Amino acid sequence: MTKRPGEKEKNQHIQVFLRCRPLNWYEKKQNSYSVVEANPERREVTVKDKGSEKSHTKTFAFDRVFGPETQQIDVYKMVVGPLIEEVLMGYNCTVFAYGQTGTGKTYTMEGERSAGNFSWDRDPQAGIIPRTLHQLFEELKHQDLEFTVRVSFLELYNEELFDLLSPHDDTSKLRLFEDATRKGSVVIQGLEEITVHSREEVYFILEKGAAKRQTASTLMNATSSRSHTVFSITVHIKENMIDGEELLKTGKLNLVDLAGSENIGRSGAVDKRAREAGNINQSLLTLGRVITALVEKTPHIPYRESKLTRLLQDSLGGRTKTSIIATISPALCNVEETLSTLDYACRAK
Ligand code: ADP
Ligand code: MG
Repeated sequence: MTKRPGEKEKNQHIQVFLRCRPLNWYEKKQNSYSVVEANPERREVTVKDKGSEKSHTKTFAFDRVFGPETQQIDVYKMVVGPLIEEVLMGYNCTVFAYGQTGTGKTYTMEGERSAGNFSWDRDPQAGIIPRTLHQLFEELKHQDLEFTVRVSFLELYNEELFDLLSPHDDTSKLRLFEDATRKGSVVIQGLEEITVHSREEVYFILEKGAAKRQTASTLMNATSSRSHTVFSITVHIKENMIDGEELLKTGKLNLVDLAGSENIGRSGAVDKRAREAGNINQSLLTLGRVITALVEKTPHIPYRESKLTRLLQDSLGGRTKTSIIATISPALCNVEETLSTLDYACRAK
C-alpha cells in the first residue's frame, strides 16, 4: 500500500467519535450560549472561543461527528452496528464514553426512559447497552446456532472493583488475577456473570445495576463522577460444521462509562489543582497512555499500570476494535473542558 506524503496512516482498529449534546436548561438560565458547531458532513467540530474572532476558532476532525440533534438510534448504528459482526465472529471490542461530567456519557451508554408508554426496547431514549443486547438476540435467533449470552456489570472506584450485579447487599471488593491459562487475560474472582436468555431480561439487569451503584456510592460516600463502570457482554457460539466438527467461538463487547474527565488537563496529565486535591484517577490516566501507545505502535503498552487497563487488556490492541465516544457540552461556560476533551480525543487518532 502506498502512503501519500503527509497523510497520517490511519489506525483502523481505533475509531474516535464526537457527540455534542444540546444546550441544557441550566446553561440557558445562566445566559450561556453555544460556541460549538458540529459539522457531521465534514466530520468536524469547530469551537468559537470568546466570540467569533478568527484567532479564537479551532477545528477538530473525527471519524464521525454527532451534533445536538443526533438521536440515540443513530449513535448506536454508527458506533456499535459494525462491532456486532466482530463479536459474533469471536473477536473482542470495547466502546468508551469519555468526557466532562454532565455531557452525556451515561445518556449515551445506558440512556434514559421516556415518559409515556414506550416498552423499554422501543424507547427512543434507550442507549447503547439495551440496543446492543436487543440486536445480538435478533442476529442470533436467525441463525441455527447454539449460543449463550452472559453479562457482567462492575464499577471501578479509587482503583477498587465492585460488582454491580452481585446478589449480596454489600460493597465488598473484587480481586483481579492473571489468567494462567490464557496469556493477557485476567480473571475477576467472584464476579457475577448472568446468563441472559432474552432481551426482555436486560432492562431488569440494568435497573438492578443502577440501583446498586446508587447504594454503593452512598455507602462509600463517593460520587459517581469519579467512578468508571464496565458492562461486558460475552457471547459463546457453538457452530456445527458440515464435517461433523464443532466450532466454538467466544466474542466480547465491553461498554465503558468512564469517570468524568474534568481532572485531566489539556496536556493529558493530571491538572495541578486536581493533583493537590488528591484527585488522581489512575485508570483514566493510564487508559490515555495505553491508547497513545497503541496508536503510535510502541512495543510496550502499559496495561499493568491501572485496574481498568488490566481488566480490559484482552479487549484493547491486537485484533480487537476500540471505539471512543467523546462527549461535550456546547456552552460557552464549559469551553475550557470542551477544548480539553477535544484535544484528548484527537490524540487517540
Ligand atoms: P454524564 O454521564 O456524562 O455525567 P449524563 O449522561 O448524566 O452525563 O447527562 C447529563 C444530562 O444531560 C442528563 O440529564 C441527560 O439526560 C442530558 N443529556 C445528555 N446528553 C444528551 C443528549 N444528547 N440529548 C439530550 N439530553 C442529553
Ligand atoms: Mg454519568
